[in-house]
Amino acid sequence: MKKEERTERCKRLFYTPKSAFDVIDTSDADAVETLSSSYKDFLDGSKTERECVENARVMAEQWGFRPYRRGMELSPGDKVYTDDNNKDIMLAVIGKNSLDEGLRVMAAHCDSPRLDLKPNPLYEDEGQAFFKTHYYGGVKKYQWLATPLELHGVITKKDGTVIEVQVGNDPYDPVLVINDLLPHLSAEISKKTIGEGFSGEGLNALVGIKPDPDEGDNRVKLAVMQWLHDKYGVVEEDFLAAELSLVPAQNARDVGFDRSMIGAYGHDDRCCSFAGLQAILETENPQYTAVCVIVDKEEIGSEGVSGMKSMRFDTFIGDLCRSQDVELRHCYAKSLCLSGDVCNAYDPNYADAHDKRNNAKIGYGLGVFKYTGRGGKSGSSDASCETMTRARRLLDKAKVKWQVGEMGKVDLGGGGTVAVFLAQRNIEVVDVGIPVLSMHAPFEVIAKIDLFMCYKAYYALFNEI
Ligand code: MN
Ligand code: MN
Repeated sequence: MKKEERTERCKRLFYTPKSAFDVIDTSDADAVETLSSSYKDFLDGSKTERECVENARVMAEQWGFRPYRRGMELSPGDKVYTDDNNKDIMLAVIGKNSLDEGLRVMAAHCDSPRLDLKPNPLYEDEGQAFFKTHYYGGVKKYQWLATPLELHGVITKKDGTVIEVQVGNDPYDPVLVINDLLPHLSAEISKKTIGEGFSGEGLNALVGIKPDPDEGDNRVKLAVMQWLHDKYGVVEEDFLAAELSLVPAQNARDVGFDRSMIGAYGHDDRCCSFAGLQAILETENPQYTAVCVIVDKEEIGSEGVSGMKSMRFDTFIGDLCRSQDVELRHCYAKSLCLSGDVCNAYDPNYADAHDKRNNAKIGYGLGVFKYTGRGGKSGSSDASCETMTRARRLLDKAKVKWQVGEMGKVDLGGGGTVAVFLAQRNIEVVDVGIPVLSMHAPFEVIAKIDLFMCYKAYYALFNEI
C-alpha cells in the first residue's frame, strides 16, 4: 500500500515529460498524417521566402481571404491578407470583439539559411565557371559541400520585368554543387578547426565547364552567360538586381522506419509558418481578431522592410484599428502573441551541448520557451510568469501536448526569435514552437506529432474565447 501511495504522490507532485505518442488521442492519428502530407507539399514548393509567401497567398485565396485595401469596410468574420510585399504576408480574421480588446497573434518567419549569390557572382577559373556566394543566416559551411543544390529566386531587369528562376526543382533539371577536397589530400585541412577549415569565400558553386566555340578569354563563362541570356533574357549586370539563392536539392521525406518524422530543408521556420497558416485558414468567426504574421529576415536579425522590426506590421494593424476608431497602442496592450519558431531538440549524440532536464525532445510535443537568448538570457524578451500561465491554460484547455524547452547549455551559445520585437510593441508574447534536430542544416528533422501539436496550439490561440 505504501508503495502505491508513494507512486501516486510522485505522479501528483513531479513534472514528468511524456512522449506525445503516449498521450495523443488515437482519433488524431489520421489528422497528424494529413497535416504532415500537406506540409511536405508546401515545403517542396516553398524553398525561398518568396515561394512561401506566394503559396500562402494562394492558400489564403482558396480559403476565402481577400487582399486588404486601406479603408475597406470590415465586419466580424471577414478574412483579409496583405499582398503588397512578396517576402512577407499577414493574414487576419476579424473578431467579434473590438480591437480595443486586443489581438491573438501568431508570428513566424519563412526565411531559412541558404547561400545567396553575390551581386557579381559569375567567374571562370582554369576552365571551370563558378557562382560566388555569400551565406545567409547561420550555417555550418561544410554541410553545403559536395551536396546537390538548386537555384531559386528572381532577377529584375532594368525595365522592371521580374524573372523567376528555378533550376533543379524538376527531377530532369541539372543541379549545381560546391565541391569538397578529397580525403586523400586533406591532411592539412584536417588539422584546422571547422571554423578555420571552411571559409565563406570558398563557397563557390560549379556551374559549367563547356567552353563557347568562339576563340578568346573566358570561354566557359561566356557559354554560361549565353545560356542564361537565352533562357531568361538577362545580361551579367542584371545579377546586381537579383535575389538568387542556392538551396538544397532535396524534397521533404519521411524519416525513420516508423515514418514518424519529416526530414527537409527549411523546417526553420516554415513548419511554424505552415502550422500558423493552416490554423488561421480554418478560423471562422473568432472572438478576438486573429492575426497570422509570416515574416522574412529573422535569420539575419529581423532587419529589413520584410522583417519583424519593420513598421509593416504596425501599418497593417494600425489600418485595422483605425477602421474601428481604436488606438493601435491600446490594441497592442491587450494582445497576446505566440511567437512560433523552432527550438533545438535534445540530441543524445551531442549530450554535452544540452541540459537534458530543460531541453525539448523530439516527439514530446510543442516546445514552450520562457526565454531564448544567450549568455544570461541576453537578447531575449523572457516572458513573465503571468504570460506563461496564460499560455499554459490555453494549451491545456486545447489538449495540446507541450513541454518546456531551453536553448542548450548555459554559456554555450544561444539564439533568438521574433518574440522580442513583439514585446517591444507591448504585446505579451511567449515562444512556442517545434523541436528540430540538425537545425540550420540542409536536412533538418522534426516529428509529425509535434507539428500537429503546434498547429493545435495556434488554432487554440486564434479561437480563444
Ligand atoms: Mn527560426
Ligand atoms: Mn534559425
